[in-house]
Amino acid sequence: MAEQTFGISGQTSGKATEESTSMLIRYWGVRGSIPSPLNTKYVRQKEEALIRKIIEDGGTQKLFGDTNVGDAYNLEQVQEKIRQYLAGLPLSLSGTYGGDTTCLEVQVKDSPLIVIDAGTGARLLGGMLSRLIFEGKNINPLNSDEATKRHIHLLFTHYHWDHIQGFPFFGPGFIPGDKNIKVHFYGKRDARKRLSEVLVGQQQYPNFPVEWIDMPCEKEYTELPRLDPRMIQIGNAVITYQELTHPDSVFAYAVEIDGKKFVCASDTEHKDSPDPRLVRLARNADILYYDAQYTPEEYIGTPGTLTGPVPKFDWGHSTYEWGIRNALAANVATLVLGHIEPMRDDFLIERLYERALDFKDAQLKLLENNGKRLEVVMAHQGLEQRL
Ligand SMILES: [Zn+2]
Ligand SMILES: [Zn+2]
Repeated sequence: MAEQTFGISGQTSGKATEESTSMLIRYWGVRGSIPSPLNTKYVRQKEEALIRKIIEDGGTQKLFGDTNVGDAYNLEQVQEKIRQYLAGLPLSLSGTYGGDTTCLEVQVKDSPLIVIDAGTGARLLGGMLSRLIFEGKNINPLNSDEATKRHIHLLFTHYHWDHIQGFPFFGPGFIPGDKNIKVHFYGKRDARKRLSEVLVGQQQYPNFPVEWIDMPCEKEYTELPRLDPRMIQIGNAVITYQELTHPDSVFAYAVEIDGKKFVCASDTEHKDSPDPRLVRLARNADILYYDAQYTPEEYIGTPGTLTGPVPKFDWGHSTYEWGIRNALAANVATLVLGHIEPMRDDFLIERLYERALDFKDAQLKLLENNGKRLEVVMAHQGLEQRL
């Protein structure tokens, strides 16, 4: 169940309390390029590593106590100790970083719900939103406006499969517009294909049995010019965007309210200096979500690396090093590393994260006298951040 994703593997970070929240970001899909679910080989690796860790930590008797006592109170205590123990372990042992592709939920105070991209993570988000709608609840608890409380504003970074593929499974799309459900789509203006054609096209015969016209929610489209980008107002949220470097181009979005700022820059490739367009968009952001698909060695195509000897130049993706350089140049508070390479298992994701932390420390050392700080977070499905 979707809620459990956040109850179990989710970490909540950010300084805001529930009462003082202006913005809440939930990550429903952080995998790059193609969904990559766990399989038995990976699960078995985790099980073996977890059992080894339990033995190293003194064994089950020492860690959790004795279940042979047999009374219900004792069993509940053992269960609670197990829960606490797992909560203290890295996700490679206790959960997973997730295999669904890009979908971010952004709740903003006094604004309709904002969603960035509809990769396969949109299926889970849509399931949760549909339940809330059928229970008569608000899909954005931070928005009390009656007229827009069931409106969803879906911003597409671009139209590659891994960013649109979840929409045919997005529950609210199947709820008729007369229930006040409206999905407002935003995406780049493209001479080759209209935004509506992109969405209609992916559900056409023989690709999918349910056609676009059979999704009865009310739909609205806004195509955004690539050059001369303009500001979008969604409720009280102010959205700005910027075209960045990616095959067929990509938009990065900044969402702002009450002096808080979240920036999503997925599917972007660095050059040999911080990208001035991204630095301008992300200036002083509280959170920057950035494409960190490759290690520096993978990017240049070093033989023997996870993704092989082929260089990844012009593939449109970046590295944690350039995420950190861009974040420092833009004075960002928290960098979230995402669009995770599909071949990278949970153990390798943690290795990449350790390297990112080391690189960040080294970079901060170079800037020692500037008083700069930067928090770096590894994205995972279930991560929740409050501002
Ligand atoms: Zn992508
Ligand atoms: Zn892409």
